[in-house]
Amino acid sequence: MGRIVKKTPIHGVRKLAPAFIAAASRRAQLCYDNHITLYASVACNDSCVTGAAASCRDKSGSRPPCSIKRIRRRFLKAILLLAALAVCSCAQSLQSFRYSVLAVDGERAIEHVRAQVAFGPRPPGSPELQKCREYIAAQMKSIGYEIEEDVFTTATPYGPIEMKNIIARKKNAKEGRGVIALASHYDTKLMEGKNFVGANDAGSSTGLLIELARVLVDESGPYDYWFLFFDGEEAFVEWSAFDSTYGSRHLAQKWKEDGTAAKIRALILLDMIGDKDLDIQYETNSAKALMDLVWETAKSEGLESILSRYRGPIEDDHIPFLDIGIPSVDIIDLNYGPGNSWWHTAEDNLDKISAESMEKIGRLVLAFLSRLQNGNILEQTGNAR
Ligand SMILES: [Zn+2]
Repeated sequence: MGRIVKKTPIHGVRKLAPAFIAAASRRAQLCYDNHITLYASVACNDSCVTGAAASCRDKSGSRPPCSIKRIRRRFLKAILLLAALAVCSCAQSLQSFRYSVLAVDGERAIEHVRAQVAFGPRPPGSPELQKCREYIAAQMKSIGYEIEEDVFTTATPYGPIEMKNIIARKKNAKEGRGVIALASHYDTKLMEGKNFVGANDAGSSTGLLIELARVLVDESGPYDYWFLFFDGEEAFVEWSAFDSTYGSRHLAQKWKEDGTAAKIRALILLDMIGDKDLDIQYETNSAKALMDLVWETAKSEGLESILSRYRGPIEDDHIPFLDIGIPSVDIIDLNYGPGNSWWHTAEDNLDKISAESMEKIGRLVLAFLSRLQNGNILEQTGNAR
């Protein structure tokens, strides 16, 4: 089991430096050009700019708006402005730099999976899921997050069952331009008579979410991060609009009604991302702009090998959020074992997943988040799909 070599700060600086210098000089040139245009337009005529200020007279015949001294002063101001912009660019680049050296630790992520698997099967309403919930909450609190439980009782084919979504937010978080929600379900499918421990489904995405929360706890950008752990994603009997995604449907509806949905600029769902042989599908229910960006990011991160040729719709916890207008994307590998034969079977155990795969998805998500934070795509993806 190999491990991804993490970027060191030195590597990050080397990688960033030429791009930073080029971007800063482009910015400075643009600014310089804009200011020249601006000064040319405030000058009474071209001769002012060439220094023949004495010939300038405004309409009232008062003091000329331009003089050599004033032009010099303006150029001095322009230079000071350029210096300020350069400092500003530097600060922005430092922020990008900080992002470029973040890395998830696959070993830590898989340790969270081991802990979940040790509780045994974890269907909704079970004492094992309660233990798992307490584990998630304790981990998130120890990292520095505040926990809110979204508790509700819902009708299921097995009668009413109490379920709890977990919402983790940074203490004293500023909302800025809004929220990027990172999500996973944490229940396992009820499989009576089988020891279904769900290492991949949904131990892996839950474990990676906790690890991502650790990595991102001190990060600040225009968008804040919330971490969502959904109860009741799995169908009790057969997948349908009523027997599936209980937790995400409840939370999306609640947030639509209380106005919270307006703050959520994007939802990134992870599911089944621990498979040793990763095969991430281009999921076509997802917001296209976000799915395209996931694809583009994977390629630029050298992760092309984890991308599947399969392209099609998959129903998952992102659907209720898409339905209320939140741009959402599902990062999922629904090709688990030969012909997906390990999915929802006792084969879904720790032997089938790897820290390396979880680290790759972690790297993809961090690079994707960096693009969302540093770009303006979330200001443009008004329509969810
Ligand atoms: Zn499942």
